[in-house]
Amino acid sequence: MKSIYTCPYCGAKSFNPLKKAFTGGLHTKGKVCMECGQHCVNGKASMIFSAVVYVAALVLVMLIYFKGNSTWDYAYMAGTIVAAYVLCRIFDAFFGPLEKPIRNDVLS
Ligand SMILES: [Zn+2]
Repeated sequence: MKSIYTCPYCGAKSFNPLKKAFTGGLHTKGKVCMECGQHCVNGKASMIFSAVVYVAALVLVMLIYFKGNSTWDYAYMAGTIVAAYVLCRIFDAFFGPLEKPIRNDVLS
């Protein structure tokens, strides 16, 4: 059965949630498959999800910046960015299939 941890080149299930979480998106070099040595990345679903999350985080940070008046504002802003990052890593770990990178300098 094809899972989201399956390599798009050789079909081996060579990724796990932790490895996939830090594999990176379409524009990164990704991580190398243990079976065939090819680079795999998180695909379009991951890219769209992270774009949405970071835009939402940015809006939230600006809201805190302009509307907030507590001494914790900077901590909240930092927390929002960290939360966005963690959310994207969780998405990459458990959702969205692996794809071949679109950068052609890794195809060696
Ligand atoms: Zn492979």
